Amino acid sequence: MTASSAPLVDPYGRRVKDLRISVTDRCNFRCTYCMPEEGMKWLPRNEVLTYEELARVATLCVDRFGFEAIRITGGEPTIRSHLSRLVEMLSRLDVDLAMTTNGVKLPELAHDLAAAGLRRVNISLDSLRRDVFHRLTRRDDLHRVLAGVDAALDAGLTPVKVNCVVMRGVNDDEVVDLAAFGRDKGVGMRFIEFMPLDGDDSWSMADVVPAQEILDRIDAVFPLVRGTGGEVAGGAEPADTYRYADGAGDVGVIASVTQPFCGDCDRVRLTAEGRFRTCLFALDEHDLRPVLRGGLAAGELDDALAAAIEAAVGTKWAGHSIGRVEFVRPPRSMSQIGG
Ligand code: SAM
Ligand code: SF4
Repeated sequence: MTASSAPLVDPYGRRVKDLRISVTDRCNFRCTYCMPEEGMKWLPRNEVLTYEELARVATLCVDRFGFEAIRITGGEPTIRSHLSRLVEMLSRLDVDLAMTTNGVKLPELAHDLAAAGLRRVNISLDSLRRDVFHRLTRRDDLHRVLAGVDAALDAGLTPVKVNCVVMRGVNDDEVVDLAAFGRDKGVGMRFIEFMPLDGDDSWSMADVVPAQEILDRIDAVFPLVRGTGGEVAGGAEPADTYRYADGAGDVGVIASVTQPFCGDCDRVRLTAEGRFRTCLFALDEHDLRPVLRGGLAAGELDDALAAAIEAAVGTKWAGHSIGRVEFVRPPRSMSQIGG
């Protein structure tokens, strides 16, 4: 927080300080848990916020409200042209600047992004088996993602974290192998419970592997320091993170379904077309694009944006209700929201 910024606090007393910016709804993969194979309707280009518009909202969140973390995401952020231009604009802000990516384009881009000021990346990798990877992502690109992990390490985008969505009967038998991969490479694996945001709308509770089960499986092979002292402070992370007892790094689980962390939620999201969202599962969105494109002068524009953001945060709910009868699935997939 600077002297001139004031914290943004939601109706449940949680300070909001983490902004996830989706730079595109498009993607070069079609992961089964995120998008249907065909039939996605992409946003027309003129409806997607420009880098200047995205940076304006991000800068306001930092300057006025003291945000501490910005995550670039999508869709797949690296397929938007000249992404390093946005990174360079955001790198002027005093925040933890990270990106979530499927990693495929990192061999070409990692060094440029690091030079532009990106600090670290989370790379999605759900399987080390070529056939499973291909089936899950609908692309035969495992080798390129593995090269992307190496490129991120080489470019110093560290600590590199690797996200894995665990699905029962699909890749849950690889949890220990992926943990071993993380230990060998020096990257922190983050195992994510499968959430009902898939493009095919086929999610069921039976597909979810509880985080506790994931930890138990890893602990049986690579003992973890559990209980007091084992958990690593998460910072902006929703993951419960544990150290390996032998000192070979850490591993985290994101138990969004079985142990929601809504009570500690400090994040908000901006979709590629400028909708401000106060929860991954929110049903309401707050459209900032008419404000951004309304022809206001700079000072008035920032005041109007700040007022819209404050009003939106005033509607942030206590938490989602996945698994309960009252749960209503948002009408968008993860790629359209910006995961
Ligand atoms: N394309 C980038 C990627 O895959 O990392 C960034 C966007 S993606 C929507 C962000 C994260 O959301 C990824 O780690 C992905 O695995 C995760 N994700 C997507 N759909 C999910 C779902 N239904 N449940 C849990 N995580 C999901
Ligand atoms: Fe694309 Fe990421 Fe969604 Fe996979 S999870 S389809 S890589 S946006």
